[in-house]
Amino acid sequence: IPEYAFIGRSNVGKSSLINMLTSRKSLAKTSGRPGKTQLINHFIINDNWYLVDLPGYGYARVSKTSKKTFQKFITQYFALREQLVSAFVLVDIRHNPQPIDLEFMQWLGEHGIPFSIIFTKADKLKPKAIDNHIESYKNVLLETWEEMPNYFITSSSKNIGKEDVLEYIDSLNSNMILD
Ligand code: GDP
Repeated sequence: IPEYAFIGRSNVGKSSLINMLTSRKSLAKTSGRPGKTQLINHFIINDNWYLVDLPGYGYARVSKTSKKTFQKFITQYFALREQLVSAFVLVDIRHNPQPIDLEFMQWLGEHGIPFSIIFTKADKLKPKAIDNHIESYKNVLLETWEEMPNYFITSSSKNIGKEDVLEYIDSLNSNMILD
């Protein structure tokens, strides 16, 4: 069955987003403590796709060795996943484009892995500020990409963007069946 990988920097709001998408409060443990998700978690959704919860990257306080281990782990995951349809790279809407996120998107592109961007914590900014941040992302991304990757604006605390993401996944799933 098709799978979709969710990845982002530690504390980006990945667990909260997964809980929103799966509508189950206690599934992925959320915390204010960065670097919490250590292993890959799989969630089966509606019996027809897998949501894959990858560990957070870019946790500043981990050693070089564990960064290396992480990279190897992620690389292996992506190398082995034949069922992977698309990745979702989560970024905190409040931050300007961060090198680590851009590098990761670049890496996905080089490896031919399709991805969308999920902007998280949209409730923390006013609509105008959201537009400005998306605009700055577009400017940076268009330096390396021909077009702006597909993106979603979400807030797990205000339940924003859930249907957009789920409908998108459903549409990819039904394309796969038709193919
Ligand atoms: P993870 O480390 O990426 O899994 O992030 P978590 O889901 O554990 O969230 C990290 C912190 O951000 C927690 O304190 C959450 O309550 C908070 N958070 C997550 N999503 C949102 C959101 O949509 N809005 C707001 N305001 N806070 C959020």
